[in-house]
Amino acid sequence: MTIYNLGSVNADLVYRVPHLPGPGETLGAASLTHGLGGKGANMSVAAARAAARVVHIGAVGADGAWMVERLLEYGVDTRNIATVSETSGHAIIAVDDAGENLILIHGGANRAVPEAALDAALADAGPGDTFLTQNETNAQVAAARRAKARGCRIAYAAAPFDAAAVTEMLPFIDLLVLNAVEAEQLVAATGKDLGSLGVDDVVVTRGGEGARWIDARGGEVTDVPALPVSAVDTTGAGDTFTGYLVAGLDRGMPMRQALNLASRAAALMVTRSGTADVIPDLKEIEESRLG
Ligand code: ATP
Repeated sequence: MTIYNLGSVNADLVYRVPHLPGPGETLGAASLTHGLGGKGANMSVAAARAAARVVHIGAVGADGAWMVERLLEYGVDTRNIATVSETSGHAIIAVDDAGENLILIHGGANRAVPEAALDAALADAGPGDTFLTQNETNAQVAAARRAKARGCRIAYAAAPFDAAAVTEMLPFIDLLVLNAVEAEQLVAATGKDLGSLGVDDVVVTRGGEGARWIDARGGEVTDVPALPVSAVDTTGAGDTFTGYLVAGLDRGMPMRQALNLASRAAALMVTRSGTADVIPDLKEIEESRLG
């Protein structure tokens, strides 16, 4: 089966600085690293590393060819990533000596995915396939509507959180993944508890406390503990978790088994610095003997 992921592709530009700059300050950076990031790209890489077949749908600018190439190297089908006239999405991240950070995001090409290309991108999608998206691109509803009409399961990661965006997506969603803060925001915005949203499966990630699965059909709540690790950098933990969870389900695992796999992948991820480039594969998870 295939996971069709409409998602962002970002260059993460990480500058090490002695302190975070104040208004009007010009500051020299000690170093610069260039990585692949964006919630969409991270999830595509995670799902591909979990041995799923992944088709990424998105857009980059003329400056984004290296990111498409890197996704391809990581095993993602990149034929539906358009090149558009906007600049590629990117995040400018300043990290100071105390580990504090400041992040500036430009959506750029991620918000200019050509809607006209969605039908072609989803032409082979059908029952048994999964359509996945997050809130860093345009065309989420248009694509979900098309994927649903083709019989795909719809998975949505409600991040970055926007009450209007998630509310518009709710009628299509089969699996909703969100962190604890986003879950609180959604409950406040809708006035409904997570089991009453009309979504079959809701998974709330809770950082070092693990994850909670709300099975709305059975009315059951299951907690999955996080695995004990020394956290170095939690960036991308949620994306790794979601990519592995969706891949596990796509490969036919029962929810509990997919949640356990996702927890192991995310735990290993927090022991590493970086985003898409350091998402672990199945072999590394096996060898780590976590869980
Ligand atoms: P991010 O935005 O940093 O990617 P998030 O807020 O979307 O993260 P979290 O809830 O922080 O997501 O983490 C996702 C999952 O990663 C958790 O459910 C857990 O399984 C794992 N995880 C996160 N932090 C830790 C930790 N300190 N130790 C072990 N596992 C962790």
